[in-house]
Amino acid sequence: MNDPSAGPPGATAAAAYREFRGGPETLANRVVAVTGAGDGIGRAVALAAAGCGAQVVLVGRTVRKLEAVHERIIALGRAEPTIAPLDLERALARDYDQLADAVLQRYGRLDGLAHIAGILGSLAPIEHYDVPTWYRVLHVNLTAAFALTQVLLPALRASSDASVIFTSSGVARRPRAYWGAYAVSKAGTEALSQVLAQELEASTAVRVNTLNPGPVRTRLRMQAYPAEDPETLPTPESIVPAYLWLLSAASRGITGQSLDCQAAR
Ligand code: NDP
Repeated sequence: MNDPSAGPPGATAAAAYREFRGGPETLANRVVAVTGAGDGIGRAVALAAAGCGAQVVLVGRTVRKLEAVHERIIALGRAEPTIAPLDLERALARDYDQLADAVLQRYGRLDGLAHIAGILGSLAPIEHYDVPTWYRVLHVNLTAAFALTQVLLPALRASSDASVIFTSSGVARRPRAYWGAYAVSKAGTEALSQVLAQELEASTAVRVNTLNPGPVRTRLRMQAYPAEDPETLPTPESIVPAYLWLLSAASRGITGQSLDCQAAR
């Protein structure tokens, strides 16, 4: 078993996964579901996975955005993706079940599940943190990822090499004042990933890891740092290699790791 406290798997591997360049067949014959696939990092990962040959399930809230990603993948001449609308704030058990049934019916298995959808909530002291916002952030960022993983486990177990990726944040590992529910949800995500990795390691071919994107030019980042010049930040496309590496056979055997998409800036 990989020691979860051991950090990245060696300097060479660490450098390699951040520069991983998949080819058009790297994810061939792999079915990959991406949450938050309509925008930001999720959109970039979904497009890159399709470009590497994956059959992609586009999970997200805004159908118009998912349709635009769908169109782009078709225009690239890649396998037709599936659009799976799911509002993680409001979805009920039957919505999760429907999605899992649809995946099993269409593909018979799931080889990759990248949890990327997330919300910031508000930056505020705990003393004044809005309670409904707290519930919403914990639910979308943590509880919904748990529920979706649970319901998709039969499809993941049906794969001969499945990879689950959770998306964390720097404030999960070094919590900071005012990051409230977001920091707590991401710390919980790290714990969920480690717990699940250990539970599945001995008995399944499902590996589970966490990625911290680092600062990336997206709506969420702009919400957190409104005065920052977005042009100074890496694009979502630039941090995709780590996701592709974890989704590919190149990372087979890696589980229980918390990795960074970017070297420290
Ligand atoms: P964006 O705001 O650009 O994208 C967030 C995505 O999550 C969108 O696709 C959004 O869908 C989706 N989403 C939000 N709420 C829901 C919901 N209720 N149901 C379904 N989907 C939902 O942010 P990023 O791309 O930056 O964030 C992606 C992940 O990366 C998040 O988990 C974030 O915490 C993490 N992260 C980002 C960093 C950064 O610097 N950008 C740094 C560290 C971590 P829609 O567009 O339809 O609203």
